[in-house]
Amino acid sequence: MALTINDDCTSCDACVESCPNKAITSESPIYVIDPAKCTECVGAHDEPQCMVVCPADCIIPNPEHVETKDQLLAKYHAMHG
Ligand code: SF4
Ligand code: SF4
Repeated sequence: MALTINDDCTSCDACVESCPNKAITSESPIYVIDPAKCTECVGAHDEPQCMVVCPADCIIPNPEHVETKDQLLAKYHAMHG
């Protein structure tokens, strides 16, 4: 499933560059993950890179976007060819 960012986000910007899919943007008041672009890093890394770098531990699963690993991989390849 895609991930999402909760209200504990401090807008530190650390996650943006870590995302292989450019799924994270700075919105007001917190940063936002585009569920159409987030693959949980499937296709690029072994674990979600934004969660690894986030100092606030505010990135969590998005229950509204449940997807299988195959679906996440297909989404990744659709974006990257
Ligand atoms: S899990 Fe990976 S693809 Fe999804 S927002 Fe975080 S860094 Fe980007
Ligand atoms: S790394 Fe975490 S605290 Fe920093 S902007 Fe991203 S989601 Fe917010």
